[in-house]
Amino acid sequence: MDIGTIIALMAIVIGGLGTIALENGFKLKNTDVSDLSSVEVKKLISLTLDVCAEREGVKSPKFQITDLSKHAKLQNEHVLGMYLCQTKMIFIDVERFIYRGDNIGNMVSTIVHEFQHYVDDLNGSNETNTVLDLLELRADNAEEKYLKKTIRRLHKIIEGQPNILSLT
Ligand SMILES: [Zn+2]
Repeated sequence: MDIGTIIALMAIVIGGLGTIALENGFKLKNTDVSDLSSVEVKKLISLTLDVCAEREGVKSPKFQITDLSKHAKLQNEHVLGMYLCQTKMIFIDVERFIYRGDNIGNMVSTIVHEFQHYVDDLNGSNETNTVLDLLELRADNAEEKYLKKTIRRLHKIIEGQPNILSLT
């Protein structure tokens, strides 16, 4: 086999892998939040919550895009998302993701985390009656468990409705 053939074969393999990666939402996950318009960000958060709600068979929670800089639990820490059990509402600090140079994957991960707080609350556990560390552990585990699945599902939905976001 000459070098030209080897290079050609490698190109086919890499091209194939690229296609698989794209099909699984690779591009979606790695797109910077700053590349989205504010309408697209809002739609994406809403879709992500719908995907999570569908998974758990519950109603989608209400959400708000807001500045959470005043909600830091520790000094120099800045929360990206928050769940408020009093109103059963999720808050997402979109500006903060943009400031950090985060991608959609990072934002979806935070939404999955906050959604777990919502589901736990629906099941009777919230910060008024449950140790905070336990709630955080559950939410962190949910991020690990559901991020990839959520991205894949989002990618499928967006692919089927190309007008939602211009990302695929
Ligand atoms: Zn949390």
